[in-house]
Amino acid sequence: MNTKEKVQEIIKRLEKEYPEPKVALNFKTPFELLVATVLSAQTTDVHVNKVTEKLFKKYKTVKDYADALPDAFRKDISSINFYNNKAKNIQASAKMIIEKFSGKVPKTMEELTSLPGVARKTANIILSSAYGVNEGIAVDTHVKRLSLRLGLTKNEDPVKVEQDIMAVAPPKEQWGRISILLILHGRKICQAKKPMHNQCVLYDICPSRNI
Ligand code: SF4
Repeated sequence: MNTKEKVQEIIKRLEKEYPEPKVALNFKTPFELLVATVLSAQTTDVHVNKVTEKLFKKYKTVKDYADALPDAFRKDISSINFYNNKAKNIQASAKMIIEKFSGKVPKTMEELTSLPGVARKTANIILSSAYGVNEGIAVDTHVKRLSLRLGLTKNEDPVKVEQDIMAVAPPKEQWGRISILLILHGRKICQAKKPMHNQCVLYDICPSRNI
């Protein structure tokens, strides 16, 4: 089995395990997804969802975030790691979206990554999960770990990992899905410290099954 065939097999098996793959972050609008994704760096999705449940009730529009008093907004997300920086980036993004993008979260990688605090991973999540656009593959810690363990890449740098997976995972329409499937499998079975090889549906095609 070559690497492209292997990726298709991985997707097929993981789709059976996780029939409705979607991001674990709760959101109703593209901007809410941007907020949740920025908050989720170094923080669990469960905790982010707890915080955004209240946050999204208080701040309903992009303008609400842009106009919020910085101290009050910081306080609203203060239980999140690195909240100071995240608050600054979210409010600066809201202002830029209003000024440069007519109040709408942009739909291209180039425009999204021009927003403060939005790198490729966040942009890929927004494009794929809010707009159904697959311009790349969101590489978080789970996607990186599983890609290395499954032999889809030899790189540690997320941008290179993304390029490696894109090269072996056509068609483009699958890119958003493969990222979410790897994240779900990484959380449930192929965990960083204790991968549960004996419960893994990828066992026979995984070069790391003996680690
Ligand atoms: S066999 Fe083990 S290392 Fe390979 S994907 Fe499954 S849990 Fe991860």
